[in-house]
Amino acid sequence: MSLIKKGNPLYSVLYLKCPRCHEGDLFCDKNPWHFKHFFDMPERCPVCGQKFTLETGFYYGAMYVSYAITIAENVAVFVALSVFNAFSIPLFFAIDIPFLFLTVPYVFRISRAIWINFFVKYVPPEQREKLT
Ligand SMILES: [Zn+2]
Repeated sequence: MSLIKKGNPLYSVLYLKCPRCHEGDLFCDKNPWHFKHFFDMPERCPVCGQKFTLETGFYYGAMYVSYAITIAENVAVFVALSVFNAFSIPLFFAIDIPFLFLTVPYVFRISRAIWINFFVKYVPPEQREKLT
């Protein structure tokens, strides 16, 4: 059971699901750390037929989302170190750089999921027709 239910845009973002049906996967390979395919998205949702690239260059906007998340990650590391009264510049970079590096593939995907959720709204199953 999950706290976030289908119909809530967060469901689509956290589980990387189609924003329209919350069932089809946004990415071909479920594991974001399989680097070879981590960019790959199906052209359309396999369940409801929603297009995932609404127009050419659609995901350029996701870069701004990704930038905002990266800033938030930096702030989180800073706050965590400060809470433990352990902040120093070298320690900050020693933790922050690997942390950012490791989260890049996930942030990349979450950013795209957030971005497409700005434009595509959830449609409940009973009102949904398969798009072609
Ligand atoms: Zn769908």
